[in-house]
Amino acid sequence: MLLIVDNALIIMVLLIFIILILIFITGNNKKSYIVREFYSLGTSNQLKAYGKNAIKAINQSIKKVYEIDNKMSVFKINSEISKINKNAGSQSQIVGDDTYYVIHKAIKYCLLSKGAFDITVRPLVSLWGIGKEGQQIPSSNEIKDKLKIINYKDIVIDKNDNSIFLKNKKQEIDVGGIAKGYAADEVKNIMIKKGIKSALINLGGNILVIGTKSDGTPWNVGIQDPFRTRGEFALTISVLNKSVVTSGNYERYFEVEGKRFHHIINPSTGYPSESDIVSATIISNNSIDGDGLSTGVYIMGVQKAIKLIEEIEDVDAILITKSKEVYVTSGMMEKFTITSDEFVYKNAV
Ligand code: AMP
Ligand code: MG
Repeated sequence: MLLIVDNALIIMVLLIFIILILIFITGNNKKSYIVREFYSLGTSNQLKAYGKNAIKAINQSIKKVYEIDNKMSVFKINSEISKINKNAGSQSQIVGDDTYYVIHKAIKYCLLSKGAFDITVRPLVSLWGIGKEGQQIPSSNEIKDKLKIINYKDIVIDKNDNSIFLKNKKQEIDVGGIAKGYAADEVKNIMIKKGIKSALINLGGNILVIGTKSDGTPWNVGIQDPFRTRGEFALTISVLNKSVVTSGNYERYFEVEGKRFHHIINPSTGYPSESDIVSATIISNNSIDGDGLSTGVYIMGVQKAIKLIEEIEDVDAILITKSKEVYVTSGMMEKFTITSDEFVYKNAV
């Protein structure tokens, strides 16, 4: 009799113990997930991180993104980029390691894209004023005039003193097509140093994921349907530890008589790019590479873009065309799902 009571007691204590552990685990999981939204780099950003250092990691990350914005924004008169532009044609400007690295990497992508990506495009971007009030189509003479000074080969960089020089007066650089990628990589480095094993970094739609979701499954990233309102996807991709960066004609634009004038300027015509592409996504390990490539590839058009991306190791692309065709490079073949029946997969080769 005593033995039976004893056993029942032990089972009850064990059950209570198991229930307490379960409550602790689920409660703890909820606590360990932190999300913050903030505005910087001219866009809204969201950081989501799991783990006990999540708050510290996110706070430090936000500080770093603000710092990058202060150094690289063309809209801040004291940014390092503004100082380079002000000194164009007269003297070189010494910059910090962040800005030097971004410009150095940007030049790499100017070369790889044969000038489709060209960070000296700023005078044209400013002339078009996409995203500002009172936008209108500039005259062809104004465009011709600006085209003369667009040339990334006029950027002189010197590693010895971290200096940048633009050869001609009125030349201006704009790292808006690559800085968000750099910022995402820096956020990732901070998170990793803080021991974060699972996070989703979203800087204005540029996504960089760390590890898996908290349940151990890969992150699913939606690729915006370029023809529909924000948040409606054309396809999704499944990724682990990857950056997913998209350049699209829906980000910033104005319309005149039904024609869309968007923010990605073709440096050889001076007009918003009119290639067959309306959305170019690059999947890569580092977000700076994805960002630099996505803008350039958008302008290059499907055939040249696929050829270029297939040549770069560990980098893939998903391209959506005006006629709602989806092209993907070989490394993405089994990793995407078209979620809207308006889009059709097209073999790129
Ligand atoms: P993204 O959203 O990364 O494609 O970058 C677009 C931004 O890059 C624009 O808002 C401009 O600031 C800048 N940009 C536009 N056209 C070009 C170009 N051809 N090369 C480099 N940067 C560009
Ligand atoms: Mg870009």
